[in-house]
Formats: sequence, structure tokens, C-alpha cells
Amino acid sequence: MAEIKAGSVGIMGGTFDPIHYGHLVAAEAAREAFSLDSIIFVPAGIPPHKDEKEVTPARHRYLMTLLAIMSNPYFQISRVDLDRGRVTYTVDTLTDLRKELPPDANMYFITGADAILEILSWKEPERVLSMAEFIAVTRPGYGLDRLSKALGPLYEEFQDRIHILEVPPVGISSTDIRRRLAEGRSIRYLVPETVLTYINNQGLYGVKGER
Ligand code: NAP
Repeated sequence: MAEIKAGSVGIMGGTFDPIHYGHLVAAEAAREAFSLDSIIFVPAGIPPHKDEKEVTPARHRYLMTLLAIMSNPYFQISRVDLDRGRVTYTVDTLTDLRKELPPDANMYFITGADAILEILSWKEPERVLSMAEFIAVTRPGYGLDRLSKALGPLYEEFQDRIHILEVPPVGISSTDIRRRLAEGRSIRYLVPETVLTYINNQGLYGVKGER
């Protein structure tokens, strides 16, 4: 990861299986809305709530993410979760990144609101919420109700550190992309051209021939 001199850094955690325009639009929207100096994409290693066999090997997810972000000078990528070699918890991600960032840098962890709804089941949720502010990316109209209900007393304690960011409803999900590929359908314009070429060349997601 290149050196970061900046004060506020977005940390875009996700499985990115595969990365798509929804992730890129959300990251750019967060950068703008929270005046972040840069965004570090952190592909998850073995996500805690997923079976390793269900997830595309880390090297492919890393390279697809790298290909997707390289044209944006504000975007970076980190291997902290991939190199840990065991199930990755966000508390470990933040601890490792903290060591690499300037001491006064504020960390904003950006992820889907649905992922954050589960935060109580994460490892050391209070510590996680103390280490970074959270940006929960939602479609317009999602509302704070679901989040405040799911987090209960933790929400009251940390509500100043949890932000909802409504992004334009791009309507793209990694699950839908994998389903389309399995059905032999097109994913053109859902992922960057470079990612599409990589998927085709590597024959990922059961692809045979051009999509
Ligand atoms: P997920 O359960 O696969 O995703 C839940 C929803 O959020 C999906 O709709 C997903 O859309 C969306 N999403 C995921 N990452 C996003 C992002 N960066 N921006 C916008 N939307 C996003 O979640 P996941 O990808 O495995 O995990 C998200 C992050 O939370 C990762 O960094 C993971 O390590 C962390 N996490 C930590 C713990 C823990 O510490 N115990 C537990 C769970 C997750 P797509 O499918 O289209 O991406």
C-alpha cells in the first residue's frame, strides 16, 4: 500500500466476489460526502460468516479489485486481510491498518448497511465501533430504524459514529452477478471492462468463452 499522509481515510471492506460498479459508486460517494482523503479497499480473507469453499480464491478477488480501482487516484488496496491467513475479523483489519496509517488519521469503515446490521455478532463489536466510524451504504429510503433496532443499546452509545449514506440505487449485487454468469447471461456494464476481461480470461464463476 502506498504511503498515506492524509487525515481521514475510508476503509472499504468487502468480499468483492466480484467487485462491481455498485461498490465503486459507493466508495466515491463516501469519499465525497465525508471529505475523505483516500479510500483503501480491503478484500476480506476468509469472511467469518462464509464457508471458504463458497468464496472465490483470494488471489482472484484481490486482482479483480486492483483492476477495478487503479484508474482512481484516490483509491488504494490493502492485503491486510488476505495475508492474515485465517478468518478475518474487522477488529483485526482495523488494528492492522491503524499501524500503517499516520497516528492522527481518522478511520471510516464503509460497508453495506445489511452487513452492519449483523455487527452485534461480530468479534468485539464495541471495540470495532470505538476504533473507526462506520458508513453504512444504503439505497434511498432505508431509514435508521432497522439499524437502531438491530444495534439496540450499542446504537445509543455509538450513534454519533454510525452514519447512513444513501447512494443512488445502482441495483447491482455480487450475488446477482454470480447468478447471471452461472446462467450464461451478460454482466457487461455491471463491472468495469477490466474485471470482465479478467473473469473471461480466468474462466471464473463457471464462465466458458466470452460474456
Ligand atoms: P456480505 O454479507 O457479503 O454483504 C452484505 C451486503 O452488503 C450485500 O448486499 C453486499 O453487496 C453489501 N456490501 C458488502 N460490502 C460492501 C461495501 N464495501 N460497500 C457496499 N456494499 C457492500 O458482506 P461481506 O462483503 O462479507 O462483509 C463486509 C465487510 O464486513 C467485510 O470487510 C467483512 O470482513 C466485514 N465483516 C466482519 C465480520 C466480523 O468481524 N465478525 C463479520 C461479517 C462481515 P455485494 O454482495 O454486492 O458486495
